[in-house]
Amino acid sequence: MNKIAIIGGGAAGLMAALSAVRAGADVTIYERNSGVGKKILASGNGRCNIINTASCTDDYAGTDPEFTAYALKQLSFDYFVNFCTSIGLLLDIKEDGRCYPLSNEAKSVLIAFKSAVSDAGIQILTEHTVSAVSKEKHSFVIDANHEKMIYNKVLIATGSQAAPQLGATDDGYRFARGFGHKIVPAYPSLVQLHLNSQIHHKMAGVKTHADVTLYIGGKAAAKATGDILFANYGISGLAILDISQKASYALMKQQRVMLSLDLLPCFDAQTLERTLSKLCDSLPRHTIDTVLSGLLPAKTIPPLLTDAGINHSKIVSGLTPKEHQNLSAIIKNWKFEVSGTHGFKHAEVSGGGIATVQINNKTMESKLTSGLYFAGEVLDIVGRRGGYNFNFAWASGMIAGKEMAK
Ligand SMILES: Cc1cc2nc3c(=O)[nH]c(=O)nc-3n(C[C@H](O)[C@H](O)[C@H](O)COP(=O)(O)OP(=O)(O)OC[C@H]3O[C@@H](n4cnc5c(N)ncnc54)[C@H](O)[C@@H]3O)c2cc1C
Repeated sequence: MNKIAIIGGGAAGLMAALSAVRAGADVTIYERNSGVGKKILASGNGRCNIINTASCTDDYAGTDPEFTAYALKQLSFDYFVNFCTSIGLLLDIKEDGRCYPLSNEAKSVLIAFKSAVSDAGIQILTEHTVSAVSKEKHSFVIDANHEKMIYNKVLIATGSQAAPQLGATDDGYRFARGFGHKIVPAYPSLVQLHLNSQIHHKMAGVKTHADVTLYIGGKAAAKATGDILFANYGISGLAILDISQKASYALMKQQRVMLSLDLLPCFDAQTLERTLSKLCDSLPRHTIDTVLSGLLPAKTIPPLLTDAGINHSKIVSGLTPKEHQNLSAIIKNWKFEVSGTHGFKHAEVSGGGIATVQINNKTMESKLTSGLYFAGEVLDIVGRRGGYNFNFAWASGMIAGKEMAK
Protein backbone atom coordinates (compact mmCIF):
# COMPACT_ATOMS: atom_id res chain seq x y z
CA MET A 1 0.00 0.00 0.00
CA ASN A 2 1.27 3.47 -0.89
CA LYS A 3 1.99 5.59 2.16
CA ILE A 4 1.23 9.16 1.18
CA ALA A 5 1.83 12.51 2.89
CA ILE A 6 -0.28 15.47 1.85
CA ILE A 7 1.05 18.86 2.91
CA GLY A 8 -1.87 21.27 3.26
CA GLY A 9 -5.44 20.49 4.30
CA GLY A 10 -7.17 22.92 1.94
CA ALA A 11 -9.49 22.15 -0.96
CA ALA A 12 -6.81 20.45 -3.07
CA GLY A 13 -5.35 18.46 -0.17
CA LEU A 14 -8.73 17.23 1.11
CA MET A 15 -9.89 16.16 -2.36
CA ALA A 16 -6.56 14.43 -3.02
CA ALA A 17 -6.74 12.61 0.32
CA LEU A 18 -10.24 11.24 -0.37
CA SER A 19 -9.36 10.25 -3.94
CA ALA A 20 -6.19 8.48 -2.81
CA VAL A 21 -7.87 6.60 0.02
CA ARG A 22 -10.75 5.52 -2.23
CA ALA A 23 -8.07 4.11 -4.56
CA GLY A 24 -6.51 2.17 -1.68
CA ALA A 25 -3.71 4.37 -0.29
CA ASP A 26 -2.77 5.14 3.30
CA VAL A 27 -2.91 8.94 3.72
CA THR A 28 -1.72 11.47 6.27
CA ILE A 29 -2.55 15.19 5.94
CA TYR A 30 -0.24 17.76 7.51
CA GLU A 31 -1.98 21.06 8.28
CA ARG A 32 -0.37 23.99 10.08
CA ASN A 33 -3.70 25.53 11.19
CA SER A 34 -5.73 24.21 14.11
CA GLY A 35 -8.22 22.81 11.58
CA VAL A 36 -8.37 22.01 7.87
CA GLY A 37 -10.18 24.07 5.22
CA LYS A 38 -9.97 27.58 6.66
CA LYS A 39 -10.24 29.15 3.19
CA ILE A 40 -13.25 26.98 2.40
CA LEU A 41 -14.98 28.45 5.47
CA ALA A 42 -14.08 32.03 4.52
CA SER A 43 -14.94 31.62 0.85
CA GLY A 44 -17.73 33.28 -1.12
CA ASN A 45 -18.55 35.59 1.82
CA GLY A 46 -19.27 32.54 3.98
CA ARG A 47 -21.30 30.83 1.23
CA CYS A 48 -18.49 29.08 -0.73
CA ASN A 49 -18.81 29.41 -4.47
CA ILE A 50 -17.69 25.81 -4.68
CA ILE A 51 -17.46 25.28 -8.45
CA ASN A 52 -18.73 26.56 -11.78
CA THR A 53 -20.84 24.42 -14.10
CA ALA A 54 -18.78 25.40 -17.13
CA SER A 55 -15.07 25.81 -16.52
CA CYS A 56 -12.61 25.92 -19.38
CA THR A 57 -8.99 26.94 -19.86
CA ASP A 58 -10.09 30.51 -20.75
CA ASP A 59 -11.17 30.95 -17.14
CA TYR A 60 -7.57 30.63 -15.97
CA ALA A 61 -4.38 32.67 -16.24
CA GLY A 62 -0.79 31.59 -15.80
CA THR A 63 2.19 30.91 -18.03
CA ASP A 64 0.26 28.02 -19.62
CA PRO A 65 -3.49 28.00 -18.85
CA GLU A 66 -3.83 24.95 -21.15
CA PHE A 67 -2.22 23.02 -18.30
CA THR A 68 -5.67 22.94 -16.67
CA ALA A 69 -7.45 21.32 -19.66
CA TYR A 70 -6.93 17.68 -18.69
CA ALA A 71 -7.87 18.19 -15.02
CA LEU A 72 -11.00 20.17 -15.90
CA LYS A 73 -12.08 17.40 -18.28
CA GLN A 74 -11.48 14.67 -15.70
CA LEU A 75 -13.42 16.51 -13.00
CA SER A 76 -16.49 17.20 -15.10
CA PHE A 77 -19.34 19.02 -13.41
CA ASP A 78 -21.41 15.80 -13.24
CA TYR A 79 -18.48 13.97 -11.65
CA PHE A 80 -18.22 16.68 -9.01
CA VAL A 81 -21.95 16.66 -8.27
CA ASN A 82 -21.80 12.86 -7.81
CA PHE A 83 -18.75 13.20 -5.63
CA CYS A 84 -20.48 15.81 -3.44
CA THR A 85 -23.55 13.61 -3.16
CA SER A 86 -21.30 10.73 -2.06
CA ILE A 87 -20.14 12.83 0.89
CA GLY A 88 -23.65 14.11 1.67
CA LEU A 89 -23.30 17.57 0.16
CA LEU A 90 -26.04 18.92 -2.12
CA LEU A 91 -25.52 21.91 -4.39
CA ASP A 92 -27.50 24.96 -5.42
CA ILE A 93 -26.78 25.67 -9.10
CA LYS A 94 -27.32 29.29 -10.11
CA GLU A 95 -28.34 30.39 -13.63
CA ASP A 96 -24.95 31.96 -14.30
CA GLY A 97 -23.14 28.67 -13.55
CA ARG A 98 -21.97 29.47 -10.03
CA CYS A 99 -22.67 26.72 -7.49
CA TYR A 100 -23.05 26.96 -3.75
CA PRO A 101 -23.90 24.41 -1.09
CA LEU A 102 -27.68 24.02 -0.90
CA SER A 103 -27.51 25.20 2.72
CA ASN A 104 -25.94 28.46 1.42
CA GLU A 105 -23.29 28.02 4.12
CA ALA A 106 -19.61 27.29 3.52
CA LYS A 107 -19.67 25.42 6.81
CA SER A 108 -21.65 22.57 5.15
CA VAL A 109 -18.83 22.01 2.67
CA LEU A 110 -16.26 21.73 5.42
CA ILE A 111 -18.43 19.48 7.60
CA ALA A 112 -19.05 17.12 4.64
CA PHE A 113 -15.35 16.93 3.74
CA LYS A 114 -14.24 16.52 7.35
CA SER A 115 -16.64 13.68 8.06
CA ALA A 116 -15.75 11.94 4.76
CA VAL A 117 -12.06 12.23 5.63
CA SER A 118 -12.65 10.89 9.13
CA ASP A 119 -14.85 7.99 7.85
CA ALA A 120 -12.13 7.06 5.37
CA GLY A 121 -9.58 6.73 8.19
CA ILE A 122 -7.35 9.52 6.90
CA GLN A 123 -4.99 10.78 9.55
CA ILE A 124 -5.05 14.57 9.94
CA LEU A 125 -2.18 16.15 11.83
CA THR A 126 -3.32 19.69 12.61
CA GLU A 127 -0.95 22.30 14.05
CA HIS A 128 1.77 20.46 12.18
CA THR A 129 3.83 22.85 10.10
CA VAL A 130 6.02 21.02 7.62
CA SER A 131 9.41 22.67 7.66
CA ALA A 132 11.26 20.47 5.17
CA VAL A 133 10.68 17.78 2.54
CA SER A 134 13.53 15.68 1.19
CA LYS A 135 14.01 12.48 -0.76
CA GLU A 136 16.34 9.72 0.35
CA LYS A 137 16.65 6.90 -2.20
CA HIS A 138 13.02 5.93 -2.88
CA SER A 139 11.40 7.50 0.16
CA PHE A 140 10.43 11.01 1.18
CA VAL A 141 11.21 12.45 4.59
CA ILE A 142 8.74 14.96 6.00
CA ASP A 143 9.97 17.13 8.82
CA ALA A 144 7.13 18.64 10.90
CA ASN A 145 7.21 19.91 14.47
CA HIS A 146 10.77 18.53 14.81
CA GLU A 147 9.65 15.00 13.99
CA LYS A 148 10.63 13.11 10.83
CA MET A 149 8.33 10.65 9.07
CA ILE A 150 8.89 8.51 5.96
CA TYR A 151 6.46 8.23 3.01
CA ASN A 152 6.48 6.71 -0.50
CA LYS A 153 4.86 9.74 -2.09
CA VAL A 154 4.26 13.38 -1.20
CA LEU A 155 1.70 15.94 -2.42
CA ILE A 156 2.48 19.61 -1.99
CA ALA A 157 -0.92 21.33 -1.68
CA THR A 158 0.14 24.27 0.45
CA GLY A 159 -1.77 26.89 -1.55
CA SER A 160 -0.45 30.40 -2.16
CA GLN A 161 0.48 33.43 -0.08
CA ALA A 162 -2.96 35.02 -0.48
CA ALA A 163 -4.72 35.67 2.85
CA PRO A 164 -1.90 34.78 5.28
CA GLN A 165 -4.34 35.41 8.16
CA LEU A 166 -5.99 32.13 7.09
CA GLY A 167 -2.72 30.18 7.26
CA ALA A 168 -1.35 30.83 3.79
CA THR A 169 2.40 30.45 3.35
CA ASP A 170 4.88 30.35 0.51
CA ASP A 171 6.37 27.15 1.94
CA GLY A 172 5.26 25.14 -1.11
CA TYR A 173 7.46 27.26 -3.35
CA ARG A 174 10.42 26.68 -1.02
CA PHE A 175 9.86 22.89 -0.97
CA ALA A 176 9.51 22.81 -4.78
CA ARG A 177 12.66 24.89 -5.25
CA GLY A 178 14.52 22.33 -3.13
CA PHE A 179 13.69 19.73 -5.80
CA GLY A 180 14.88 22.01 -8.61
CA HIS A 181 11.46 23.39 -9.61
CA LYS A 182 11.18 26.89 -11.06
CA ILE A 183 8.85 29.40 -9.42
CA VAL A 184 7.00 32.03 -11.43
CA PRO A 185 6.95 35.21 -9.27
CA ALA A 186 3.71 35.43 -7.28
CA TYR A 187 1.37 38.43 -7.29
CA PRO A 188 -1.96 39.13 -5.54
CA SER A 189 -5.11 38.53 -7.59
CA LEU A 190 -8.85 39.09 -7.04
CA VAL A 191 -7.68 42.05 -5.02
CA GLN A 192 -8.54 45.72 -4.45
CA LEU A 193 -6.43 48.35 -6.22
CA HIS A 194 -4.58 51.44 -4.99
CA LEU A 195 -5.03 54.62 -7.00
CA ASN A 196 -2.58 57.40 -7.64
CA SER A 197 -4.92 60.40 -7.38
CA GLN A 198 -5.69 63.32 -5.10
CA ILE A 199 -9.44 62.74 -5.22
CA HIS A 200 -10.41 59.08 -4.70
CA HIS A 201 -10.26 59.37 -0.88
CA LYS A 202 -12.87 62.17 -1.06
CA MET A 203 -15.28 59.55 -2.45
CA ALA A 204 -14.46 56.88 0.18
CA GLY A 205 -17.55 54.83 0.92
CA VAL A 206 -19.30 55.49 -2.40
CA LYS A 207 -20.62 52.32 -4.01
CA THR A 208 -22.00 52.50 -7.51
CA HIS A 209 -22.52 50.46 -10.66
CA ALA A 210 -19.98 51.13 -13.40
CA ASP A 211 -18.29 49.84 -16.52
CA VAL A 212 -14.58 49.48 -15.85
CA THR A 213 -11.92 49.33 -18.57
CA LEU A 214 -8.35 48.44 -17.70
CA TYR A 215 -5.56 49.98 -19.77
CA ILE A 216 -2.09 48.49 -19.72
CA GLY A 217 0.64 50.48 -21.45
CA GLY A 218 -2.11 52.59 -23.07
CA LYS A 219 -4.03 49.64 -24.54
CA ALA A 220 -7.42 48.33 -23.37
CA ALA A 221 -6.66 44.99 -21.69
CA ALA A 222 -9.85 44.04 -19.84
CA LYS A 223 -13.40 45.18 -19.22
CA ALA A 224 -15.86 44.46 -16.41
CA THR A 225 -19.28 45.69 -15.37
CA GLY A 226 -20.53 45.69 -11.81
CA ASP A 227 -20.20 47.39 -8.46
CA ILE A 228 -17.24 49.60 -7.67
CA LEU A 229 -16.51 50.94 -4.21
CA PHE A 230 -14.20 53.90 -3.53
CA ALA A 231 -12.00 53.58 -0.44
CA ASN A 232 -9.31 55.63 1.25
CA TYR A 233 -6.62 53.46 -0.33
CA GLY A 234 -8.20 53.33 -3.80
CA ILE A 235 -10.98 51.22 -5.22
CA SER A 236 -12.64 47.83 -4.73
CA GLY A 237 -15.89 46.11 -5.70
CA LEU A 238 -16.66 43.10 -7.86
CA ALA A 239 -15.89 44.85 -11.16
CA ILE A 240 -12.47 45.80 -9.81
CA LEU A 241 -11.75 42.24 -8.57
CA ASP A 242 -12.64 41.02 -12.05
CA ILE A 243 -9.92 43.07 -13.75
CA SER A 244 -7.43 42.81 -10.87
CA GLN A 245 -5.48 39.76 -12.10
CA LYS A 246 -4.36 41.54 -15.27
CA ALA A 247 -3.77 44.82 -13.39
CA SER A 248 -1.68 43.16 -10.69
CA TYR A 249 0.37 41.15 -13.20
CA ALA A 250 1.08 44.29 -15.23
CA LEU A 251 2.09 46.22 -12.09
CA MET A 252 4.51 43.42 -11.21
CA LYS A 253 5.98 43.83 -14.70
CA GLN A 254 6.24 47.59 -13.98
CA GLN A 255 3.84 48.54 -16.77
CA ARG A 256 1.66 51.66 -16.63
CA VAL A 257 -1.82 50.68 -15.46
CA MET A 258 -4.88 52.93 -15.81
CA LEU A 259 -8.57 52.48 -15.07
CA SER A 260 -11.36 54.14 -16.98
CA LEU A 261 -14.68 54.33 -15.16
CA ASP A 262 -17.98 54.83 -16.92
CA LEU A 263 -20.24 56.00 -14.12
CA LEU A 264 -23.40 55.94 -16.24
CA PRO A 265 -23.19 52.83 -18.42
CA CYS A 266 -26.96 53.00 -18.99
CA PHE A 267 -26.38 55.92 -21.43
CA ASP A 268 -24.19 55.99 -24.51
CA ALA A 269 -22.07 59.15 -24.83
CA GLN A 270 -24.48 61.00 -27.16
CA THR A 271 -27.58 60.17 -25.14
CA LEU A 272 -25.84 61.33 -21.98
CA GLU A 273 -24.91 64.66 -23.62
CA ARG A 274 -28.49 65.13 -24.83
CA THR A 275 -29.94 64.18 -21.44
CA LEU A 276 -27.62 66.58 -19.61
CA SER A 277 -28.45 69.42 -22.03
CA LYS A 278 -32.17 68.83 -21.59
CA LEU A 279 -31.84 68.82 -17.81
CA CYS A 280 -29.84 72.05 -17.90
CA ASP A 281 -32.39 73.65 -20.25
CA SER A 282 -35.26 72.77 -17.93
CA LEU A 283 -33.44 73.89 -14.77
CA PRO A 284 -31.50 76.95 -16.05
CA ARG A 285 -31.07 78.65 -12.67
CA HIS A 286 -29.77 75.56 -10.84
CA THR A 287 -26.09 75.04 -10.07
CA ILE A 288 -24.36 72.23 -11.94
CA ASP A 289 -23.77 70.17 -8.77
CA THR A 290 -27.52 70.23 -8.02
CA VAL A 291 -28.37 69.07 -11.53
CA LEU A 292 -25.82 66.24 -11.36
CA SER A 293 -27.10 65.07 -7.97
CA GLY A 294 -30.09 63.58 -9.79
CA LEU A 295 -27.75 61.34 -11.75
CA LEU A 296 -24.70 60.48 -9.68
CA PRO A 297 -23.72 59.67 -6.07
CA ALA A 298 -23.27 63.00 -4.24
CA LYS A 299 -19.65 62.44 -3.17
CA THR A 300 -18.51 61.84 -6.76
CA ILE A 301 -19.80 65.20 -8.02
CA PRO A 302 -17.22 67.71 -6.63
CA PRO A 303 -14.20 65.60 -7.76
CA LEU A 304 -15.82 65.03 -11.18
CA LEU A 305 -16.43 68.72 -11.67
CA THR A 306 -12.87 69.56 -10.58
CA ASP A 307 -11.50 67.08 -13.13
CA ALA A 308 -13.79 68.55 -15.81
CA GLY A 309 -12.54 72.06 -14.94
CA ILE A 310 -16.00 73.34 -13.95
CA ASN A 311 -16.79 75.30 -10.81
CA HIS A 312 -19.31 73.25 -8.78
CA SER A 313 -21.52 76.28 -8.09
CA LYS A 314 -21.69 77.39 -11.71
CA ILE A 315 -25.26 78.16 -12.88
CA VAL A 316 -26.04 75.70 -15.66
CA SER A 317 -27.36 78.31 -18.10
CA GLY A 318 -23.78 79.62 -18.18
CA LEU A 319 -22.15 76.31 -19.15
CA THR A 320 -20.33 76.48 -22.47
CA PRO A 321 -20.79 73.72 -25.09
CA LYS A 322 -17.18 72.69 -24.38
CA GLU A 323 -17.99 72.33 -20.66
CA HIS A 324 -21.04 70.21 -21.53
CA GLN A 325 -18.84 68.00 -23.66
CA ASN A 326 -16.11 67.72 -21.00
CA LEU A 327 -18.62 66.75 -18.39
CA SER A 328 -20.22 63.98 -20.44
CA ALA A 329 -16.80 62.75 -21.52
CA ILE A 330 -15.52 62.48 -17.97
CA ILE A 331 -18.64 60.76 -16.65
CA LYS A 332 -18.22 58.12 -19.39
CA ASN A 333 -14.43 57.88 -19.22
CA TRP A 334 -13.02 58.93 -15.86
CA LYS A 335 -9.35 57.96 -15.78
CA PHE A 336 -7.34 56.93 -12.73
CA GLU A 337 -3.80 55.66 -12.50
CA VAL A 338 -3.39 52.40 -10.57
CA SER A 339 -0.36 52.54 -8.29
CA GLY A 340 -0.52 49.10 -6.66
CA THR A 341 -2.72 46.42 -5.17
CA HIS A 342 -4.05 46.12 -1.63
CA GLY A 343 -1.62 43.22 -1.14
CA PHE A 344 -1.65 39.49 -0.41
CA LYS A 345 -3.41 40.04 2.92
CA HIS A 346 -6.56 41.21 1.12
CA ALA A 347 -6.24 39.08 -2.02
CA GLU A 348 -8.47 36.03 -2.53
CA VAL A 349 -5.87 34.25 -4.61
CA SER A 350 -2.40 34.57 -5.99
CA GLY A 351 -1.11 34.43 -9.54
CA GLY A 352 2.30 32.87 -10.23
CA GLY A 353 3.59 29.86 -8.33
CA ILE A 354 5.29 26.60 -9.21
CA ALA A 355 6.02 26.51 -12.95
CA THR A 356 3.66 24.07 -14.66
CA VAL A 357 6.14 23.23 -17.44
CA GLN A 358 7.97 20.92 -15.02
CA ILE A 359 4.79 19.07 -13.97
CA ASN A 360 2.88 16.36 -15.84
CA ASN A 361 -0.69 17.70 -16.13
CA LYS A 362 -2.16 14.20 -16.54
CA THR A 363 -0.78 13.02 -13.19
CA MET A 364 0.27 16.22 -11.35
CA GLU A 365 3.62 14.51 -10.73
CA SER A 366 6.90 16.39 -10.89
CA LYS A 367 8.83 15.77 -14.11
CA LEU A 368 12.01 16.15 -12.04
CA THR A 369 11.35 13.94 -8.99
CA SER A 370 9.22 10.80 -9.17
CA GLY A 371 6.75 10.41 -6.33
CA LEU A 372 6.47 14.19 -5.78
CA TYR A 373 3.11 15.73 -6.71
CA PHE A 374 1.51 19.20 -6.71
CA ALA A 375 -2.11 20.41 -6.70
CA GLY A 376 -4.15 23.57 -6.27
CA GLU A 377 -3.19 27.18 -5.96
CA VAL A 378 0.47 26.46 -5.24
CA LEU A 379 0.80 26.03 -9.02
CA ASP A 380 1.20 28.85 -11.55
CA ILE A 381 -2.53 28.82 -12.31
CA VAL A 382 -5.08 31.39 -11.15
CA GLY A 383 -8.78 31.45 -11.92
CA ARG A 384 -11.40 34.10 -12.45
CA ARG A 385 -13.99 34.92 -9.83
CA GLY A 386 -16.94 32.51 -9.98
CA GLY A 387 -15.89 29.20 -8.40
CA TYR A 388 -13.01 28.58 -10.82
CA ASN A 389 -10.26 28.57 -8.20
CA PHE A 390 -11.91 25.83 -6.16
CA ASN A 391 -12.68 24.08 -9.42
CA PHE A 392 -9.00 23.72 -10.27
CA ALA A 393 -8.11 22.83 -6.67
CA TRP A 394 -10.68 19.98 -6.65
CA ALA A 395 -9.69 18.82 -10.16
CA SER A 396 -5.93 18.82 -9.67
CA GLY A 397 -6.32 17.33 -6.17
CA MET A 398 -8.47 14.52 -7.50
CA ILE A 399 -5.97 13.61 -10.22
CA ALA A 400 -2.99 13.75 -7.86
CA GLY A 401 -4.80 11.61 -5.27
CA LYS A 402 -5.76 8.90 -7.75
CA GLU A 403 -2.31 8.84 -9.34
CA MET A 404 -0.48 8.70 -6.03
CA ALA A 405 -2.48 5.66 -5.00
CA LYS A 406 -1.32 3.72 -8.09
C1 LIG B 1 -11.62 35.24 1.42
C2 LIG B 1 -11.53 34.24 0.29
C3 LIG B 1 -12.69 33.90 -0.41
C4 LIG B 1 -12.61 32.97 -1.48
N1 LIG B 1 -13.76 32.61 -2.11
C5 LIG B 1 -13.71 31.71 -3.13
C6 LIG B 1 -14.89 31.24 -3.76
O1 LIG B 1 -16.00 31.56 -3.34
N2 LIG B 1 -14.74 30.38 -4.83
C7 LIG B 1 -13.52 29.95 -5.28
O2 LIG B 1 -13.44 29.19 -6.25
N3 LIG B 1 -12.39 30.35 -4.65
C8 LIG B 1 -12.45 31.19 -3.60
N4 LIG B 1 -11.30 31.56 -2.94
C9 LIG B 1 -10.01 30.96 -3.40
C10 LIG B 1 -9.91 29.53 -2.84
O3 LIG B 1 -10.14 29.57 -1.45
C11 LIG B 1 -8.52 28.94 -3.11
O4 LIG B 1 -8.22 29.03 -4.48
C12 LIG B 1 -8.44 27.50 -2.68
O5 LIG B 1 -8.68 27.42 -1.27
C13 LIG B 1 -7.07 26.89 -2.98
O6 LIG B 1 -7.03 25.61 -2.43
P1 LIG B 1 -5.63 24.95 -2.04
O7 LIG B 1 -5.96 23.65 -1.40
O8 LIG B 1 -4.74 24.95 -3.21
O9 LIG B 1 -4.98 25.94 -0.99
P2 LIG B 1 -5.50 26.36 0.47
O10 LIG B 1 -6.97 26.25 0.57
O11 LIG B 1 -4.86 27.67 0.74
O12 LIG B 1 -4.88 25.24 1.41
C14 LIG B 1 -3.50 25.18 1.69
C15 LIG B 1 -3.33 24.69 3.10
O13 LIG B 1 -1.95 24.44 3.34
C16 LIG B 1 -1.65 24.82 4.66
N5 LIG B 1 -0.19 25.00 4.75
C17 LIG B 1 0.55 25.96 4.15
N6 LIG B 1 1.86 25.78 4.43
C18 LIG B 1 1.93 24.68 5.23
C19 LIG B 1 3.00 23.99 5.86
N7 LIG B 1 4.29 24.37 5.72
N8 LIG B 1 2.72 22.87 6.63
C20 LIG B 1 1.43 22.46 6.80
N9 LIG B 1 0.38 23.09 6.22
C21 LIG B 1 0.63 24.19 5.44
C22 LIG B 1 -2.47 26.08 4.87
O14 LIG B 1 -2.68 26.35 6.24
C23 LIG B 1 -3.76 25.73 4.12
O15 LIG B 1 -4.73 25.16 4.98
C24 LIG B 1 -11.35 32.43 -1.86
C25 LIG B 1 -10.20 32.77 -1.13
C26 LIG B 1 -10.28 33.67 -0.07
C27 LIG B 1 -9.03 34.00 0.70
